[in-house]
Amino acid sequence: MYRLQKEGFDAYLVGGCVRDLLLGREPKDFDVVTNADPEQVRKVFRNCRLIGRRFRLAHVHFGREIIEVATFRGAGEAQNDKQVLNNEGRLLRDNVYGTIEEDVWRRDFTVNALYYNIKDFSVVDYVGGMADHKAGMLRLIGNPDMRFREDPVRMLRAVRFAVKLGFSIHPDCEKAIHNDAELLASIPSARLYDEALKLFLSGYALQTFEMLRHYGLFQVLFPATEKSLAIESNGFPRLLLIKALENSDNRIAEGKTVTAYFLLAAFLWEPVQIRAKQKIAKGAVEYLAYQEAASEVISRQIESTALPRHISMAMREVWNLQPKFNARFGSKPSRLITHPRFRAGYDFLVLRAETGGADPELAEWWAKYQVASETEQRKMTQPPRNPANKKPRRKRSYRKNVQDTVMEKES
Ligand code: ATP
Ligand code: MG
Repeated sequence: MYRLQKEGFDAYLVGGCVRDLLLGREPKDFDVVTNADPEQVRKVFRNCRLIGRRFRLAHVHFGREIIEVATFRGAGEAQNDKQVLNNEGRLLRDNVYGTIEEDVWRRDFTVNALYYNIKDFSVVDYVGGMADHKAGMLRLIGNPDMRFREDPVRMLRAVRFAVKLGFSIHPDCEKAIHNDAELLASIPSARLYDEALKLFLSGYALQTFEMLRHYGLFQVLFPATEKSLAIESNGFPRLLLIKALENSDNRIAEGKTVTAYFLLAAFLWEPVQIRAKQKIAKGAVEYLAYQEAASEVISRQIESTALPRHISMAMREVWNLQPKFNARFGSKPSRLITHPRFRAGYDFLVLRAETGGADPELAEWWAKYQVASETEQRKMTQPPRNPANKKPRRKRSYRKNVQDTVMEKES
C-alpha cells in the first residue's frame, strides 16, 4: 500500500479484513483497493499477475503470500459494454473502473464496505457500515431483491458471515432470501462448489447447515440430500450428516485438517443408500446396485455443485470400503488396512456406527485391529473353529489310497 502511495496512487484496505480487524479478529486475507488500474498496478510491482475475467484483479506476490489488489469499480447503474447483465439481472462482467465513491455501491454488505485509509489511519464509511458493525447487522447496500438478483451468491455470503461473525441478517434481506433462494440454481456449478467449500470447511459447518436449511438455500446446493432428510429411516431422523458436520467442526477447533471429500461423502451417503435399496428391491445384485446408485447420485449432484474428479473418486472409495469392513477373517483385513483411503473409510464406519447405520462392535473391532501387534492381528483374524469342519480323516484315507496305488504298481 505504501508502494502504491509512493507512486502517487490511493490505497485502502477494504472488505473482510477491515470488518474482522474491527472485531479484534485475525483476518483471513487482506484485500487492497486502489485508483491505479490493473496495468498500472502491474508496473508498480515486479511480482504481479493479472487474473480474472468477470472482475479483473492484480495479484501481488510476497513470498508465499498473495495480496489481492483491485481497482475501484464504477457505479452499478452505469451500464455499458464493459458491464454485462444477463436476462435475470445477473452481472456477468463488471470491468468499469471508477472512484471510491462509486466503488462502495457495488460491495455487498455495509460492514464489507469499510475502507481503511493508510494516509491518515481513518476508516472511510459511506453507507453506515460502522453503525451496522456495532449493531452486528448484515445489511445489503441498496435494494436487497435487486442486489440478490445481480449476484445470488450474496445469499450464501449472508449466511456465511452471519454464522462466522455471529451477526444477524437484516429482516429485509431475510425476506428477499426467502423469495430469491431459487435464483442460486442459475449460478455456474463450479462457483457453487467453491462457495460450498467455504461454507462447510469454515469450522461452523453445523450452524451453517441449519441456517442454509432455514432459508431454503440448502436444497439448491444439495437437492438429493435435502430430500433424503425428509425420509426417516426406521423411525430415526438422518443423523449421520449432522454428526459428520459436528465432527468436522470439532476437528477444525482442535487444529486438525478436514477433507472436502469426506464431508461430501457424508452429504450424499443417504441418497446413495436410498437409491441402492430401490434397485435391490427391484432385483438388482447388491454390489452393482451400490455402484450404480453412486454414479447416479454423483452425476445428479454435479448439476448443482461441481465436484472435481479427484473428489468424486475419493467419495466413491470411502463408500466402496464400507462393505469391505465386514470381512474380518483371513488375509483380507491386513490388505484392507494398507488401502490409501483406509483411515477415511474407517472414520466413516465409526460415523455410521455412532448413528445406527453399522454395528458398533464392528467399528470397535477395527479400532483394536489397527493398534494390535502382528501376532494379535493374526489371532483376531483367525476364523472361529467349527468342529464339523475337521478334515484330518479324509487326508489319511487319501494317503492310504495313494499307498494302495503304489502297491498295486509294485505288484
Ligand atoms: P472473507 O475473506 O473473510 O471470507 P470478505 O468479506 O473479505 O470475507 P471476499 O470474498 O474476500 O470476502 O471479498 C472481499 C470484499 O469484496 C467483500 O468484503 C465485499 O466488499 C466485496 N465482495 C466480494 N464478493 C462480492 C459479491 N459477490 N458481491 C458484492 N461484493 C462482493
Ligand atoms: Mg477477504
